[in-house]
Amino acid sequence: MDHTKSELLYSQALEFMPGGVNSPVRACKAVGRKPVFIEKASGDRIFDADGNEYIDYVCSWGPNILGHCRPEVISAVIKACEKGLTFGACHEGEIRLAEMIKKAFPSMEMLRLVNSGTEAVMSAVRAARGFTGRDKIIKFEGCYHGHSDGLLVRAGSGLMTGSIPASSGVPAGYTESTLLAQYNDTGSVQRLFDENRNEIACVIVEPCAANMGVVPPEKGFLEFLRKITEDNKAVLIFDEVITGFRLSFGGAQELYGIKPDMTALGKIVGGGMPLAVYGGKKEIMECVAPLGSVYQAGTLSGNPAAVAAGTATLEILEKDKSIYKELEKKSAALEKAMVSAGLNVNRCGSLLTAFFTEERVKDYPSAKSADVTRYGEFYRFLLDRGIYTAPSQFEAMFVSCAHSDEDIERTCDIISEWAK
Ligand SMILES: *Cc1c(COP(=O)(O)O)cnc(C)c1O
Repeated sequence: MDHTKSELLYSQALEFMPGGVNSPVRACKAVGRKPVFIEKASGDRIFDADGNEYIDYVCSWGPNILGHCRPEVISAVIKACEKGLTFGACHEGEIRLAEMIKKAFPSMEMLRLVNSGTEAVMSAVRAARGFTGRDKIIKFEGCYHGHSDGLLVRAGSGLMTGSIPASSGVPAGYTESTLLAQYNDTGSVQRLFDENRNEIACVIVEPCAANMGVVPPEKGFLEFLRKITEDNKAVLIFDEVITGFRLSFGGAQELYGIKPDMTALGKIVGGGMPLAVYGGKKEIMECVAPLGSVYQAGTLSGNPAAVAAGTATLEILEKDKSIYKELEKKSAALEKAMVSAGLNVNRCGSLLTAFFTEERVKDYPSAKSADVTRYGEFYRFLLDRGIYTAPSQFEAMFVSCAHSDEDIERTCDIISEWAK
């Protein structure tokens, strides 16, 4: 494969952006190669600047559950754009999208549209603190909740490969109230509640972790979080930025049958445009301005083009119930091929990760035991054969309904070649 043009573009990008990128993992530092520059995408395929074609299992890190350039979504966006890119004012589309979200996520009695997952989670935590009048929050090692100051502690995703346990530039005071627990370890949560009686505002969790690689919740873990937060009058926040509309139409909370007090959504809900959502119990959301004293605002919030993309995407997912069955079937086929190739796979629906460790991966330390050099070899092996996956061990592989059976089969064949 020729990558001359990508290499040229990368050398130019390095002059303008830190590491040549607008988001760290894209620099591909963890897999020992330079990034490929993308020219266009369609269906389950992505094309780089040199004209190489790949089957795409990154799917923009989740949003593209329908694949790239789904005609209904593109035409909805074009139609919206023709009426104006932004008004900074109320429009009907916001109500229709909110209605659809609430129908899928009944726990979100009231919600706000924002522009990124980072913003959604940050705002949900602020509302939880405002509502409870408490400062301390509990998060789990290896869970990523965006890059706001207070949540950048053992945060997973790009922070795991960079050997950065926490970001610099964050004053100690900002993370002092962030308490760390271990994923799938109920005892670690119990201890924090015992040591901080009546001080915990909220517990925030990825109900199926996907930013230290995929780590599903063990039986009883989410149930425990539901119970202990209820008993202590703390708010339970599900960060469903990845899992929302992916594990099922109603997200992880529908799949596992647990109702959180608040939820953050992103990625799929924007259909490929910058849009995210936070919401939850009415009494908590009524603390948000202008009704209450928790301030949160946005010039581009509810942007009509983004709302159109999100709405068109959700309409398709809502109508075609076979989508989730298809995703399950295709993902199970990939999992089977990986397991046959001797890989250690965690999978939850259309999210999967092959971990290069012998340990069963159930939390941050076991995920960290993975051999990232070996993962880098695997990544380069796949890329050279036209399979585009996440350039980091600690991310998920995303399957979309645009992945054809032939392409899944081809991917399985290449994976079994790796075993030889
Ligand atoms: C991607 C992600 C975020 C951050 O969303 P951005 O849109 O990148 O700011 C937050 N939480 C989870 C679980 C995510 O996967």
